[in-house]
Amino acid sequence: MTSDNSAVTILVPGKLHEHAAKRVDGAFRMVRVDRADPKFVTDDMAGSVRGIAAMTAINAAFIDALPKLEIIANFGVGYDAVDAKHAGKKGVMVTNTPDVLTEEVADTALGLLLNTVRELPRAESWLREGRWVRDGAYPLTGTTLRGRRAGIFGMGRIGLAIARRLEAFGLPVAYHNRSRVESVGYEYHPTLLGLAEAVDTLISVAPGGAATEKAVNAKVLEALGPNGVFVNIGRGSTVDEAALAKALADGTIRAAGLDVFANEPNVPQALLDAPNTSLLPHVGSASVHTREAMADLVADNLVSWFGSGRPLTPVPETAHVAAKQR
Ligand code: NAP
Repeated sequence: MTSDNSAVTILVPGKLHEHAAKRVDGAFRMVRVDRADPKFVTDDMAGSVRGIAAMTAINAAFIDALPKLEIIANFGVGYDAVDAKHAGKKGVMVTNTPDVLTEEVADTALGLLLNTVRELPRAESWLREGRWVRDGAYPLTGTTLRGRRAGIFGMGRIGLAIARRLEAFGLPVAYHNRSRVESVGYEYHPTLLGLAEAVDTLISVAPGGAATEKAVNAKVLEALGPNGVFVNIGRGSTVDEAALAKALADGTIRAAGLDVFANEPNVPQALLDAPNTSLLPHVGSASVHTREAMADLVADNLVSWFGSGRPLTPVPETAHVAAKQR
């Protein structure tokens, strides 16, 4: 049985995936504001908003401006832009969209890795610019996947899906997490530096936030070494971008493939100018198929919460939050 939630007010700050907005609007009373800023919260919203559906940052002040708030349904598995700790303290549930994007992001990670070591986008430009005809074959690539040893920073859902693909490509896999994953036999390194020393291909798919801020720093890049390839499909904040640009320029590492950046959509000029980078505009999960599945999970979390009092995919910081008695 589906409950009637048409009187439950859900606030959508800023942009939201069209399918998610359509589903929220169909099942709830949806209201919108331009940005997740307390100054946009009207008295009506303060008195009525019980849920948020968002793909934007939600800070403590915005949570505090909505005293009736029960749940924040975040569009995306990464929720570092939502103050989930504060939400947990205030008894507000936070949900994200895990699993439904795992395979898509892992596919993108492997594409980005291949683009980086085999220079496929540059080779395509060579063809399109007529240089194949004018200048002959595209130069042989100095880098290859052959003989590489891969290390994954963040062996979670997506990390495991990347590891499976790397195995199929014939690469040995090691990883770093804060804790060992008992269910897999990949080589574990208790420190990121130790992992970087052991491999020449580092793939970061760790979450953003204070604990991973600039974790991939000059020391880690130096440990990766002159044949090193760094791929980031996790969060830009995990990398010291100035140190990365320097390492790419002075030969500390060989190449980098980046889908995510610290200050999106702005990409540091040094990374744009570097001849040994392959860059993507945060497209890890960006297919119609996968974004629609994420949109459904945002709506399904709200429907489940206001129907049965249980979220489908709560984040750990708010797993303890119970629904209010209705
Ligand atoms: P997940 O299953 O939670 O995996 C995260 C992994 O990172 C866990 O294994 C965790 O292990 C490890 N980790 C967390 N904090 C760490 C720390 N401080 N030091 C070392 N390891 C740490 O998440 P997921 O579903 O795989 O997603 C991972 C991330 O990918 C998301 O948070 C998001 O930022 C990013 N992402 C990017 C895109 C894109 O479009 N580029 C798309 C989707 C997701 P421990 O807890 O044992 O440390």
